[in-house]
Amino acid sequence: MIAMSKFKKHVQTLSDQLRRTHKMLRKRLGLINRQFALLMLFWVLLCLLTLPLAFLPTHKPDEITPQGIPFEESAPEEEEETATELEVVHEDFGDEPVEEQEELSLDEVEKRAAIGELTATMVTMQKGDSLLGLLAKQNASPTERVAIVDAFEAILDLKTLRPGLSFIFFHEKDGLLVGVSLAQKQNETLSVLREKDGSWVTFSQTGRVETKQERVEVTIERTFSGSAQKAGVPTSVINQIIGAFDGEFDFTADIRPKDKVDIIMESKVTQAGLEIGNRQVLYVGLRTATKEIHKYAYGNTFYDAHGRTTAKTIMKRPLKARPRLSSPFGKRRHPILQYEIFHKGVDLAVPKNTPVVAAADGIIETIGRKGSYGKYIRLGHKGGYQTAYAHLNGYRQDLKVGSRVKRGEVIAYVGTTGRSTGPHLHFEVIKKGQVVNPFGDNKIGSTQLSGFELEKFQSWAESIHPDFKIHLAGKIPPVPPVKPF
Ligand SMILES: [Zn+2]
Repeated sequence: MIAMSKFKKHVQTLSDQLRRTHKMLRKRLGLINRQFALLMLFWVLLCLLTLPLAFLPTHKPDEITPQGIPFEESAPEEEEETATELEVVHEDFGDEPVEEQEELSLDEVEKRAAIGELTATMVTMQKGDSLLGLLAKQNASPTERVAIVDAFEAILDLKTLRPGLSFIFFHEKDGLLVGVSLAQKQNETLSVLREKDGSWVTFSQTGRVETKQERVEVTIERTFSGSAQKAGVPTSVINQIIGAFDGEFDFTADIRPKDKVDIIMESKVTQAGLEIGNRQVLYVGLRTATKEIHKYAYGNTFYDAHGRTTAKTIMKRPLKARPRLSSPFGKRRHPILQYEIFHKGVDLAVPKNTPVVAAADGIIETIGRKGSYGKYIRLGHKGGYQTAYAHLNGYRQDLKVGSRVKRGEVIAYVGTTGRSTGPHLHFEVIKKGQVVNPFGDNKIGSTQLSGFELEKFQSWAESIHPDFKIHLAGKIPPVPPVKPF
């Protein structure tokens, strides 16, 4: 800077002199002036040349990394090491400081979720769900919803979104939505992630989700749930198993210490180590002192090694809470009408809005108001059975006449509509047109796979369990060593 002003001053002096001696110089250029000008020119050039040299030593270590790789290709940690030097350089030049570059990727987001830095919420699409609707429930602002849907639209035909597909929503601890991913069939994962500036970027990756199978053998100590949890079996799997044996074996009342439960389950894990969705039971075997039962879960149904389903008992208390029996089946004095009538079902007292589940696999035959029954649902089942649910507060939204429901699936909510004294479920079981005692032994017969379906099932089952052939022959297999989970 000093050199520059000096130079400017000299140039000015020089030009002044030049102006003043213009005529004189034209006639006879004085040696002194010419020498002075040349000297000044030389001096200024020297200054200009040495000025950038002052910065060269600080540049050198940055340009080459210790490995001899050019700086542009160096790893992020090396960037950090030289950050101090870089800052000095940038200060001198007055440039903006370089922002720490963290590459945005689904792996990065999932890793943060796997260690609990972010929350990951998995939502499976139901009938009538839209991506916009799901986003609204996930704390996305109207602007964000549109931006995310637009981003997805660029990589996906939104018309292909259907019930059963699962989205994962990633949130910061403060509730800010930072990413949405969709694991599709064909092992492709689509994701839309938030950039630091608030814009949304799309990614499409294949081969990210791996399916893993694990086998655990639980030896009962006291309770099934307690022993299974101790062995690392998640609650969702425990519930699937209890449901699979419902009506056939009671894991609360009938289980004894030293009984064994052999479980093979499947989990889905992403590249970044995030487990997505619930683990699914593929096989469950129960061995007690007196019996041995093998169940293979094939296409959502449990079959034995011969491809037979178990005859299913119709649930006696189709509720998501333990009810109090407020009125039994049969003759009774009516609480309102005060004369003896025949009670066609059982009354199960539970708080209002307790979920009501289907007592067996079936199809909705009636859904709507029905006189003194209030809001009412009737299901039709195999084997000439029907079940009816009355005094409901409301129905599950997507249900209509003809909808198929699975045993244990929520269909409605308890209320006190129609002729009712308080919140309870009036539950009826009808067999070939006649009401029967819901607490009686009401069974829906078993089914059997045959032909090609049976062959397909059995070769699949053989790939799942090493002892399938023994299960088929009905022999007792040796106890496998307990594998660490
Ligand atoms: Zn009743």
